[in-house]
Amino acid sequence: MASFQKLTAPVSGSKIEFKNGALVVPDNPIIPFIMGDGMGPDIWHPTKKVVDAAVAKAYGGKKKIEWFRIYAGLDAMQVYDKDTVLPEDTVNAIREYLVAIKGPLTTPVGGFEFVCMTCAAEMNGTDGKRPEKCPKCGSEWITKRFRSMNVGLRQLLDLYACVRPVKWIPGVPSPVKEPQNLDVVIFRENTEDVYAGIEFRQGEEATLEIIKFISAKIGKQIRTDSGIGIKPMSITGSKRLVEKAIQFAIEQKKKVVTLVHKGNIMKFTEGAFRDWGYEVAKEKFRDQIVTEKELWDNFNGKMPEGKVLINDRIADSIFQQVILRPSEYSVLATPNLNGDYLSDACAAQVGGLGMAPGSNIGESIGLFEATHGTAPKYTGLDKVNPGSLMLSAVLMLQYMRWNEAAALIEKGLAGAIRQKRVTYDLERQMEGAKVVKTSEFGDAVVENM
Ligand code: NAP
Repeated sequence: MASFQKLTAPVSGSKIEFKNGALVVPDNPIIPFIMGDGMGPDIWHPTKKVVDAAVAKAYGGKKKIEWFRIYAGLDAMQVYDKDTVLPEDTVNAIREYLVAIKGPLTTPVGGFEFVCMTCAAEMNGTDGKRPEKCPKCGSEWITKRFRSMNVGLRQLLDLYACVRPVKWIPGVPSPVKEPQNLDVVIFRENTEDVYAGIEFRQGEEATLEIIKFISAKIGKQIRTDSGIGIKPMSITGSKRLVEKAIQFAIEQKKKVVTLVHKGNIMKFTEGAFRDWGYEVAKEKFRDQIVTEKELWDNFNGKMPEGKVLINDRIADSIFQQVILRPSEYSVLATPNLNGDYLSDACAAQVGGLGMAPGSNIGESIGLFEATHGTAPKYTGLDKVNPGSLMLSAVLMLQYMRWNEAAALIEKGLAGAIRQKRVTYDLERQMEGAKVVKTSEFGDAVVENM
């Protein structure tokens, strides 16, 4: 049992456990949540309301989630100290309780150094000195010196699969003619490739040494005014990701798992990801899968009943495929960077980031999150779309096998959208829609369950 520095878990709930390779979920599980920065609280409150209503309705009061607030980002700085954005308590709580949900967290880019303690306004630092007061609200600025908390959480908890389902809800505005044909789940590797990338700045001694080393060892010439990037991809990281994707396809009766890679150009990383993917498919699932080559060599192109097809597509081609022939794909297994691009491109077809859920899954832990950022300009305005976090809660409930409650939330969302009671982002693209606040959208979802 973890002991916490500044957290007290609810006394009335019980812990979700992991036994014999499966989650064991009690009727009153304790679930930690991080509200998130910026507009995080705006979307969290209606999401909690919707989840509680769905669970109560689905199980007639027999099941109930005991929410456990934990901290990251700005609220952690307030509860812990000004330099702590990802407290050990938070990581330990997720590790202990296995299933958690979070809103978006601020990530610094480039020279960004300061954030306002109250309104989350951000400011670029110039000489490292903290500015006087926030011009917007008069509060104190805090110095931030962190790596991305999202990446930190994924690495510390070894949440190696970023899983993002992309499916259209009828009525959601879409830029494509037949958005209903796209129904894919993307399994993106979450710990290596560019996430574990190492960069060497142009002109530095180490960079020049690497350039010389490469020239001497393998005879490849690199311009001396180059920067260098290294992206590691391992057998371990690739195989466990593809294994999870295939396992999911088998359980959920999906037809195809596609390995997405750029192996025609990068043979020993991207190409190896494809090869290791086929290897693990044959090693672990021989009786349940057929590869695309076997399909033509042994089955004359006709897929045998009940098997999952394993094929692969080059990264640039899959971007065309998901637009031109989306119904041919169901599970996409990708390395880190390709998956990043592909997830957003697919999400754009079904309503954009406001409607795109996400999850980070490890051996036993599942951390569910909205895929968009903190959209700081909308903080506290009760304006943004909570759909992404609500759909992430749907994934969480499905992960817990509380499928009835998950289905009620989906029904409620579809109903609110059918009635055209939507937030500004959807309203501006829908004819005859009524714009509602974030909280009102939550109410509309509950009414439609
Ligand atoms: P963002 O917060 O995702 O917002 C960009 C734009 O996307 C918003 O201005 C808004 O567009 C639209 N949008 C995002 N979420 C929406 C929602 N729920 N409903 C309606 N529209 C929504 O991206 P950003 O401004 O680049 O990033 C802000 C901060 O978030 C940064 O610090 C970034 O690092 C961080 N971030 C965190 C996560 C995470 O925690 N997982 C992910 C991405 C970014 P319009 O104004 O055009 O309507």
